Amino acid sequence: MARYTDAVCRLCRREGMKLYLKGERCYTDKCAINKRNVPPGQHGQSRKKLSNYGIQLREKQKAKRFYGVLEGQFRKYFEMADKQAGITGDNLLRICESRLDNVVYRLGLGTSRAEARQLVVHGHFTVNGQKVDIPSYLCKAGDVITVRDKSKSSEKFKAIAEGFNGSVPTWLTVDMEKLEGKIVSLPSREDIDLPIAENLIVELYSR
Ligand code: SF4
Repeated sequence: MARYTDAVCRLCRREGMKLYLKGERCYTDKCAINKRNVPPGQHGQSRKKLSNYGIQLREKQKAKRFYGVLEGQFRKYFEMADKQAGITGDNLLRICESRLDNVVYRLGLGTSRAEARQLVVHGHFTVNGQKVDIPSYLCKAGDVITVRDKSKSSEKFKAIAEGFNGSVPTWLTVDMEKLEGKIVSLPSREDIDLPIAENLIVELYSR
């Protein structure tokens, strides 16, 4: 299971915006975007104006980085989205949102997608009563995601439940006492709050 292991704040600086990859740190003054919002590298500040291709490429990279997905998997999601009825860009984002690690993060059961991914890999969750430890598992409407009984008493999940601010996206419901969430329906584009111009990604892959 491949994943990006380099310094993640570089990714935010490269995209020129917060991608919220480090949980609580992202909301503090220690955030690299708050401190030094310039592209990484020796020539980071002197980069020239982007071509159309460059703009499309950056949009795709940004989306991949938000969701913590590498190129091969993201391309696969695009192909799935393209085969589905409806708008390909909307389908693509919906598929990304339905990943188990993203759902765990959206439910507030992880402080970042990276942490949610790690919690999933460590086997802390069930989906509809079955243990699932695959972050890329694609959830469906009606699925119930629960912290496993043996994990519920851990300090980690106690802290998560105590720190929960009570808000989840409208396509999800959560019961923090039970450490359980449900997918009411998969999200529409309006439900997804990420600043991604998905049409540019579709244009890039359709070249
Ligand atoms: Fe990005 Fe978070 Fe690092 Fe800030 S602290 S640069 S938002 S990963």
